[in-house]
Amino acid sequence: MNVRAHIDAVHAQIRRRDPGEAEFHQAVTEVLSSLAPALERHPEYVDTGIVERLCEPERQLTFRVPWVDDDGAVRVSRGFRIEFSSALGPYKGGLRFHPSVNLGIVKFLGFEQIFKNALTGMAIGGGKGGADFAPRGRSDGEVMRFCQSFMTELHRHVGEQTDVPAGDIGVGAREIGYLFGQYKRITNRFEAGVLTGKPVAWCGSPARAEATGYGTVYFAQEMLATRGHGFDGRRVVVSGCGNVAIHAIEKSHALGGRVVACSDSSGYVVDEDGIDVELLKEVKEVRRARVAAYAQSKPTARFSARGTVYGLPCDIALPCATQNELDREDAVALVKNGVLAVAEGANMPCTPEAVRLFHEAGVLFGPGKAANAGGVATSALEMQQNAAREQWSFEQTESRLADIMRTVHSQCRETAEDYGGTPDDYVLGANIAGFLRVADAMSAQGVV
Ligand code: NDP
Repeated sequence: MNVRAHIDAVHAQIRRRDPGEAEFHQAVTEVLSSLAPALERHPEYVDTGIVERLCEPERQLTFRVPWVDDDGAVRVSRGFRIEFSSALGPYKGGLRFHPSVNLGIVKFLGFEQIFKNALTGMAIGGGKGGADFAPRGRSDGEVMRFCQSFMTELHRHVGEQTDVPAGDIGVGAREIGYLFGQYKRITNRFEAGVLTGKPVAWCGSPARAEATGYGTVYFAQEMLATRGHGFDGRRVVVSGCGNVAIHAIEKSHALGGRVVACSDSSGYVVDEDGIDVELLKEVKEVRRARVAAYAQSKPTARFSARGTVYGLPCDIALPCATQNELDREDAVALVKNGVLAVAEGANMPCTPEAVRLFHEAGVLFGPGKAANAGGVATSALEMQQNAAREQWSFEQTESRLADIMRTVHSQCRETAEDYGGTPDDYVLGANIAGFLRVADAMSAQGVV
């Protein structure tokens, strides 16, 4: 069978079997559209159904999560865990708690995770999970009861050699703590490596909280360096103001950039003085308030409930909020304003039309599976520390993170060139490099 026909057949099968999973279809299309040169060089991967097998999760779980709110009312949320690929190691990927979570979203995230994890070079497979539960507006007691109920089901599927969840949107140190506590209680095991993203005070890794945002900035820095640029003196916009965004802002400033805007789902703030990261942390992590509260506390800042950060003139854009938040219109504005580089801190934040526009305009574009791989890579470092029952210093861990991001970056460029693209085609390079590592392992392990 010719390679294009093979890819089309896999596509058609997914559309038929998994109708209504728009984000999953989008993620699969993005990867498969890069794979033809790799499959032409490796026809054995076509013969052994590697692509078809990769697109079908090894296991997908959905489960009821009943919990009781502060008024005594019973609530029922839906939980998910997609164990997508264990070719390279235990399933690894975060948990997302957000009302928008559904099967298609968790599958898109799990699918991306396979290739991202492969790119890090570490021994981790791909998975993802979550629930359509919204922690925002819930008391600590409600969040705890929800997490306990969620883990009461999930515990039978996870383990440090099997499946190792971490945080994502709506799942930070507080939720990881409650989830870990319930796992420990049910299993009667202090199995430190069953979850990553734990606080540093008890078996977490230094620099894990910072890793995704810092890693995204390192990746952007590497891309910029190929054209003789850097962060120094550059205007930066960041979307979101959660874990990834806050640390992307922090590292951009450390490298001499000035982040002038960030956002949440209610709007965005502009602060020409540069976003004050300590104030932002206080607003989001202590007060758990909306981003408008930042502008109320800072005279140089203004809040806007309309538009996006991408309408502002900037040299570097770091989308760090959620999928499909940066669309064609945003890309047109960024290109018109002369943006040099866009690096995805979030997963799939740029729509396919936006990505196409960046390519056509010659804007450096770092796709999430490469640019935000620092988070999961540092989770793998946390697993290493847990297995060895030791804890490294912040400097040691951050230096490993920086090395990994440099390697991911050069791997993307070299693979893109090797397979007929330009070195700047990070989408091609990331997809093929990630795919080849997983495909090699799958070939060696037989049809399983
Ligand atoms: P958080 O929950 O900490 O933060 C998410 C932020 O994005 C919040 O500020 C949220 O605002 C905002 N947001 C959500 N939707 C929108 C929107 N439509 N427009 C503007 N802002 C929005 O999550 P993380 O920072 O952990 O995750 C952010 C992204 O990074 C996700 O795509 C995640 O999958 C990805 N990622 C995370 C990793 C990690 O280590 N945490 C690792 C790799 C990728 P609000 O509070 O209003 O909803």
